[in-house]
Amino acid sequence: MDFEDKLASLSQDVSKLYDAAPFGSHCVDEDGTYTEINALELAWLGCNREELIGQRKPEEFLTPTSQKKLQQVLAHAGNHGFNDVELDLVSKGGNIRPISINATRCADSHGKPLRPWRTVSFDMTDAHRWRERQRIAAIAFESLTGMYVTDSNGVILQVNQAFTTLTGYNASDVQGKTTHILSSGLHDAAFYQELWTALKTTGQWQGEIHNRRKDGSVFTEWLSISAPGFGQELAKQYVASFFDITANKAYQAEISQMAYFDPLTELTNRRLLSDRLCQTLAAASRSRLHGAVLYIDLDNFKALNDSHGHEAGDQLLKQVAKRLRVLVREGDSVARMGGDEFVVLLDGLAADAVESARQARHIGEKILHELAQPYQLGDLGFLCTASIGISMLLEQESGTDLLQQADLAMYQAKKAGRNTLRFFSTAMQQAVSAHATMEQDLRNALRLGQFELHFQPQVNAADRIVGAEALLRWQHHQRGAVAPGEFIPLAEESALILPIGHWVLETACAQLKRWEGNASTHHLQLAVNVSARQFRQDDFVAQVQELINTSAINPARLKLEITESMVLDLDDTVAKMRALRLLGVHFSMDDFGTGYSSLSSLTRLPLDQLKIDRSFVRNMGHSHPEAIVVQTIIGMGNSLGMEVIAEGVETQAQRALLMQNGCLCYQGYLFSPAVPVAQFDALLLQPLRISA
Ligand code: C2E
Ligand code: MG
Ligand code: MG
Repeated sequence: MDFEDKLASLSQDVSKLYDAAPFGSHCVDEDGTYTEINALELAWLGCNREELIGQRKPEEFLTPTSQKKLQQVLAHAGNHGFNDVELDLVSKGGNIRPISINATRCADSHGKPLRPWRTVSFDMTDAHRWRERQRIAAIAFESLTGMYVTDSNGVILQVNQAFTTLTGYNASDVQGKTTHILSSGLHDAAFYQELWTALKTTGQWQGEIHNRRKDGSVFTEWLSISAPGFGQELAKQYVASFFDITANKAYQAEISQMAYFDPLTELTNRRLLSDRLCQTLAAASRSRLHGAVLYIDLDNFKALNDSHGHEAGDQLLKQVAKRLRVLVREGDSVARMGGDEFVVLLDGLAADAVESARQARHIGEKILHELAQPYQLGDLGFLCTASIGISMLLEQESGTDLLQQADLAMYQAKKAGRNTLRFFSTAMQQAVSAHATMEQDLRNALRLGQFELHFQPQVNAADRIVGAEALLRWQHHQRGAVAPGEFIPLAEESALILPIGHWVLETACAQLKRWEGNASTHHLQLAVNVSARQFRQDDFVAQVQELINTSAINPARLKLEITESMVLDLDDTVAKMRALRLLGVHFSMDDFGTGYSSLSSLTRLPLDQLKIDRSFVRNMGHSHPEAIVVQTIIGMGNSLGMEVIAEGVETQAQRALLMQNGCLCYQGYLFSPAVPVAQFDALLLQPLRISA
């Protein structure tokens, strides 16, 4: 064999060797095209030799990132080649394989490097997996989760960094010691016994546990312990992992505090109170002892809030809460229901109904007394009373009922003048439900046409009817005629007074229009009562104007009766009255003398008439002070240029006295009660038969 042949055979051997090698290898020519590639690398690329040799370049089989990386490496490689560059190979089928590549330049027979390269590459897939696994293991073991490994006797063998961070103990502090070193002393022997039993029988345990740090502080951890390989053999080791949940616990506590307690006063809130109420009810039915719900509402809270702001209001609530807490026994609940409403829940009162009610009253009175003591709110001294409603619990089934009943009783206490207490009673409930039924009926009354206006004559000094007051009557389908004293306050509470009041005005205008067309009635003035709530509507003036226009009446015949309560909003009232007066409407001040309006505010109102309340008229004959009041009103009206009319005139004597004092206009049963319009018209045709 000549040298040439030897060389060729050697080269073939080398090729075979490369082909069989457990690494990838290829050669490229001057322009970087494959000239050789071994079997393994062909397999990596998923190609056959013919596709590659003289056709394609290795960089075509790299990810873009690896292509860039290779270019950089080549730029610095010079003549020497490069080692261990990690690249990602992409096979024809799209599989990515990490490789580590080494390259050397081929050399000529004199050892001079040539352009072409030969490479040797190793598959790094497994290495990568291994490294990844290492990394995950490291993260896990050095994560925020504390970990330790013990032997079967609980002797600590190994701990991680997080263990040290969480407990303050270094590995050297604890290795060789039992887990007892972490014990907080807060769990009893039974607790640990259960833990070990679970471990020995199931190979695992998890739960909440209090442990002690190196600095002595206690923390709460969520601990899970498992015995690797449990079941096949007796556990040789336990792996414990834990995380600190002290912060979570505090957060939980805060959340439950928020969910169950009022943040301002730190009293129980409505939700927790309902729970307690259920418990108390259950306990009461077992023990046969009574309990009571006291619903407390402050009488002057709103005034304070409005005049001195919420901060003062908050201070008052806090002080009230404090006083209440001191007043009740340890086991009794004090709750804030919201706003200025509090509830005290008393349990374990006497078994005897009367005695337990007496006890509840006694505590209620104590509360009233304590709450009525002066408060110091910063610089402000403040007085505030409370109203209390009480419902007794034994017969009751539901907590909601009890609260509602106590609330209802509280409203009765308010109605009774405040700073007092009321017990809930069935009669009260009946009254309330009657009230509710009536309100429902009242809603339908307009639609059903159950209202009617009656007219009560107003008479002058010559006994001539000069006008009338329109008084509303409700013809209820079951109850017959319902007096306005019964339903007007209800209508005012529920805003029903607005449509009703409008109907009254509309009907009154229609009546005036009919009277205007008749010579015997066209002089009549009609007085119409207007509620404060009705008068306060923004568009009240516009409503009246609209009614005057559509009914085409002479507005001077319409007289609106207002009451002293409207003087509360003096500016608005004056403005509206002026506007209405410009339209030609007249005004009378009803029930004059019963309100508390000051004389100066009264003189600002553009009134045409004062109407002396019937309570003064009734007593003026026998009571000196009443007579003086009447005289004063008459004198005042006359000197302010207003007409004065007396209502409720029932006797000739009253009329005579009134006339003597200068009151020349009268209304009352002496002349006629309020009657339907046909009867009223009849009155006009005959001289008045004065009945007393
Ligand atoms: P008021 O405006 O002071 O009406 C006078 C009340 O005194 C009427 O009662 C009338 O029937 C009664 N009365 C008249 N003469 C005598 C008498 O000689 N002796 C006695 N003891 N009473 C007499 P009524 O009709 O029951 O009305 C009660 C109150 O209801 C009215 O008091 C008024 O405030 C209100 N009201 C009546 N109708 C309406 C209305 O249409 N709208 C509004 N907002 N309130 C009305
Ligand atoms: Mg009136
Ligand atoms: Mg009146």
